[in-house]
Amino acid sequence: VLRMESVRKTFGGSVVLRDVDLEVAPHTVTALIGASGSGKSTLLRCANLLEEIDDGAIWLDDEEITDPRADQDAVRRRIGVVFQAYNLFPHMTVLENITLAPRRVHGVGRAAAEEHARELLDRLGLGAKATEYPDRLSGGQQQRAAIVRALAVRPRLLLLDEITAALDPELVGEVLAVVRDLKDDGMTMVLATHEMGFAREVADQVCFLDGGVVLERGTAEQVFGDPQQERTRRFLHRIV
Ligand code: ATP
Ligand code: MG
Repeated sequence: VLRMESVRKTFGGSVVLRDVDLEVAPHTVTALIGASGSGKSTLLRCANLLEEIDDGAIWLDDEEITDPRADQDAVRRRIGVVFQAYNLFPHMTVLENITLAPRRVHGVGRAAAEEHARELLDRLGLGAKATEYPDRLSGGQQQRAAIVRALAVRPRLLLLDEITAALDPELVGEVLAVVRDLKDDGMTMVLATHEMGFAREVADQVCFLDGGVVLERGTAEQVFGDPQQERTRRFLHRIV
C-alpha cells in the first residue's frame, strides 16, 4: 500500500529522516516507536505529503506520490489522518465534522454521507452523539469521532499519530479498542505510539526510529521480544 525508499527530510540543515525505507503491506499495522524527536511524526507527515521530502521517493499503491506531477490533493484524499488532539472543528456537530470532507471534497451527497457517517458512528459506539458538539464529548469519544471522520472518506491507508497521547489513562483503552477493530476489518494503518504494550499486541511490523534512522524493524515479536540493537534494548528498557 505504502512504500518509502531512501527518504530524507531536513529542517533548516538538520537531518530529521535519514534514508528511511518502509514497506507497508495491505491489511497490516505498522507501529513506529522511538524516543521523542526521533522522527515518527515527520515520517507520517511525509507519507501524507504534508511535508516535502528532500530526497528519495514514496509510493501509494502503484503511484509515485512524490513525483512532482502527482496530484497531491488526490493522494491526500486516499489517506486518512488522525493526530494527537484538536481533530474536530468545535463549531460543527459530530455529524457535520464527519460529513464535511465526503461532501465537499469527494462530492458525496448529503444523505449518503450522513448514512455512512451514522453507520461508522454506530460501529464505534458513538451513535447517540451524532448531533452533539465536540465539547460535549469525552476525550476518548472525541478521538473516536476523529477516527470516524478519517474513515468517512473510505481511505486506502490510515495514519495515526499518538492518538491516545492527550487522553486520560482510563480513556486510552476505548480508543485502542477501535484501532484493534479496524485491524480486524483489514484496514491498513501506520501509527506512531508510545503505548508499547499496544504496539506489541496490534502491530504486524514494528519500526524503531532513532535519530531519524529506522534502526531496527521486524515483527512485534522480534523487536520487543528479541531486539538486536543495543539502542533498541535500552529504549525498551527505559519505557516498559
Ligand atoms: P514525539 O515522540 O515527541 O512526537 P517524533 O518522533 O514524532 O517525537 P518529530 O516530531 O518527527 O519527532 O520530530 C523529529 C525532529 O524534527 C525533532 O528534532 C524536531 O525538532 C524536528 N522538527 C519537526 N518538525 C519540524 C519543523 N516544522 N521545523 C523544524 N524542525 C522540526
Ligand atoms: Mg510525534
